Amino acid sequence: MVHSSLLHSTDTIVALATAAGKGAISVIRLSGPRAIHICQSVFHGKNLLEQASHTIHFGTIRDGSRVVDEVLVSLFVAPHSYTKENVVEISCHGSDFIVQEIIKLLLQKGARLASAGEFTKRAFLNGKFDLAQAEAVADLIAADSSKAHEVAMNQMRGGFSAEIKALRTQLIHFASLIELELDFGEEDVEFADRLALENLILELQRLIRNLLQSFALGNVIKNGVPTVIAGKPNAGKSTLLNVLLNEEKAIVSDIPGTTRDFIEDEISIEGILFRFIDTAGLRETQDKVEAIGVERSRQKIEEAALILYLFDVNELSPEALALEIQSLKAGYKPVLAVANKVDLAATIDRTAYEAVAPVLFIAATDKTGINELKQELLKTVNQGNLNTGSGTIVTNLRHYASLEQTYQALDSVLVGLSSGITGDFLAADIRRALYALGEITGDITTDDLLDNIFSKFCIGK
Ligand code: GDP
Repeated sequence: MVHSSLLHSTDTIVALATAAGKGAISVIRLSGPRAIHICQSVFHGKNLLEQASHTIHFGTIRDGSRVVDEVLVSLFVAPHSYTKENVVEISCHGSDFIVQEIIKLLLQKGARLASAGEFTKRAFLNGKFDLAQAEAVADLIAADSSKAHEVAMNQMRGGFSAEIKALRTQLIHFASLIELELDFGEEDVEFADRLALENLILELQRLIRNLLQSFALGNVIKNGVPTVIAGKPNAGKSTLLNVLLNEEKAIVSDIPGTTRDFIEDEISIEGILFRFIDTAGLRETQDKVEAIGVERSRQKIEEAALILYLFDVNELSPEALALEIQSLKAGYKPVLAVANKVDLAATIDRTAYEAVAPVLFIAATDKTGINELKQELLKTVNQGNLNTGSGTIVTNLRHYASLEQTYQALDSVLVGLSSGITGDFLAADIRRALYALGEITGDITTDDLLDNIFSKFCIGK
């Protein structure tokens, strides 16, 4: 089998870099040693082979004498490009037909279609950035809230990698000292100060623990907080959801039990994405369709990170509220009780409700208390030790797993140190920790790992 990095030196790949469909322009990207040659063979205007890097050229793409499109060609001469190879970007008119025609021509002239993530994979293999940074490119594209964007951008620019590399360098230093001891064999020398090693490991573990803990927040930032809006039919769930979303997506009606299915939507509150799930009520019912809805509501509640229990303050007594919250079986999950329709109530005994649970009082229809509700939602996320702070945040499950392995390997080193085991065992455990850390940045890789990561990218990235 040919190693993938060898292929890279010969193949020139092509793909549509922008989204498919109609648009003002589309960009087709070529990368590889023959990118400029191949483009030149279909381009009429000037000789691209004689042009400088980072220049743009107007001309036509032709199939024989037929003009396919008027285009702009951007040149990036190796190594000054995204992939560090020759890269050509053809900006053509945004039509699927034109794009297909141009790509077909380029394939005829010797390019081949890029596989998912292949441009970014080449960038990684050519040393443009490390693995964690490459993965951040995918996150950056997928980011749909300001916080997700910030975290991905930090990771892409190497903030996370720098932290991991600093940990690794310190550990490598000790590993080499201990390996040096091994070279001296029988002579009883200790180059590596055991106490200093122990301190370093404790410090590394503390840092890794922080990174591991940041994963909960990272996940929330990347994927949003799944938030269920539960409550009896007619409590005003759809109305509230509509107000939160500011659009008419849920069905609002006066007939109890009409929200039978789930309307899932997302809103970003101060950069944190909440995925709201409106559920059918949880009340016992004879109606079959509704009963299915109730069952699915329970499932949704199980998947939720946060439950917003909405009730009509005119219909539900504080005692009944206590029973309802109990029946949610939310376990450790935070439940935010929200009393709706305060506009219809003459008087409300707020303290009686607040004795049951923390309650917010709102009127969804006239938007009373909505801002307070949003603030409360944010607070719930931040309280679960999810404080954003300023530190590095782990958002990637693969990184999380590697950090956990590192932590465990460091545990073994500590056990080894306290029981005074020989240097070769210590060295093996340290190497295990180094390996796990190296997997994050790609200092250590296997083809399987790379394929797994880059296959998740879209074609053209
Ligand atoms: P769901 O079954 O929980 O989704 O409840 P809906 O959102 O369909 O609301 C049921 C009814 O209550 C509708 O007629 C809404 O207009 C009304 N409603 C919702 N919130 C309020 C409120 O704050 N005040 C008043 N007066 N009516 C409301």
